[in-house]
Amino acid sequence: MHDGSRLLIDDGAVARNVRRIVRSTGTPLMAVLKADAFGHGPQAAVVLSAGASWIGVTSIEEALPLRELGVDAPLLSWLNPVDADWASAITADVDLAVPGVRHLFAIAGAAVASGRTVRVHLHLDVGMARDGAAASEWKQLMFFAREWEQRGAIRVVGVMAHLSSAQDPEAEENVLERQRFVNGCRMAARAGLRPTVRHLAATAAALSRPDTRFDLTRVGAGLFGIDPAHRFALEGAMTLDAPVVSVRDVRAGTGVGYGLSHHTDRDTRLALVPLGYGDGLPRGASHHGSVSIRGVRRPVVGLISMDQLVVDAGDVPVVEGERAVVFGPGRAGEPTVREWADWAGTIEHEIVTGLGPRIRREHRAVDEADPGPDASDESTDTLERAR
Ligand SMILES: *Cc1c(COP(=O)(O)O)cnc(C)c1O
Repeated sequence: MHDGSRLLIDDGAVARNVRRIVRSTGTPLMAVLKADAFGHGPQAAVVLSAGASWIGVTSIEEALPLRELGVDAPLLSWLNPVDADWASAITADVDLAVPGVRHLFAIAGAAVASGRTVRVHLHLDVGMARDGAAASEWKQLMFFAREWEQRGAIRVVGVMAHLSSAQDPEAEENVLERQRFVNGCRMAARAGLRPTVRHLAATAAALSRPDTRFDLTRVGAGLFGIDPAHRFALEGAMTLDAPVVSVRDVRAGTGVGYGLSHHTDRDTRLALVPLGYGDGLPRGASHHGSVSIRGVRRPVVGLISMDQLVVDAGDVPVVEGERAVVFGPGRAGEPTVREWADWAGTIEHEIVTGLGPRIRREHRAVDEADPGPDASDESTDTLERAR
């Protein structure tokens, strides 16, 4: 028995997602483990033994603990301020993305100071005006990268970019931005650079657009069962449950929660669950969400509070101490992360990365003998499934 709220993370589901994506894309995979592996905790060993070849994270602060844990796979960090702790990254053999000339000089300077050659990935903005070098800066960046390479400070191993609109695989932008990426790689070659790892696709593009895979895919969401394009069936790895703290039987017309924004429509039983927006359950899902009690979906009623929510259990004779499943992979009819995201008007990523520290984490270890729930589908090399 356990009390309190619990997040069960099925590492086997993550491993199976890795294997499926590698098999389906036929391309080496960089597992993107930023934001605590999208809220899934330690996953580096899981993804590497399942077939990922690289690990990707945003900051150096995310990269260094992985090295300390003994991860020796190629590891890329792509989002750092210009005065980041480059020396520590270089010492730990972390590959660094270079989003502009100022970053290049800072990184190359740190490499010279440390007497080492740093492996870098030149990062081009192909359209979303977010991370990476602006197109207008690219030529200059190529020129100086070549200079620093010739002086032994850096080695340009990769060119990377990120698509703005891959969640819609048919969007015109994908074609245009891919072409900008190809042009950026050509300019690098013309400048005398020889990057061998060109990477553009994240989950949605990797799965849906073979022409974006190049030498490596950078997959985060998909490892955890999320396909932003909603085309591919991957396995969710999280189950969130919590005990019913108390129950009460109320009359029809009873107001529930702050502001009494809900009134019961009949005599019913209310069940109190100790999870709220302080734990990452979006308040925006109030009046839409539901949870599963004794395998039956029952609505969340009233406003979700910081620490607690109320469920109208209806005819389910729930008692104190039974557990309510907030979400899971959906195989027992329980709500999924996708549904919670829809109820709150957000995306699955925000739900899985937002779960708070009050929730106890528990991992179900990889069981190589377990083929997973979709084993019967494994004969095909495609993940696509009618939805
Ligand atoms: C987060 C991120 C990824 C992974 O994207 P997913 O859609 O989660 O697979 C890849 N590349 C960059 C630059 C990112 O920021």
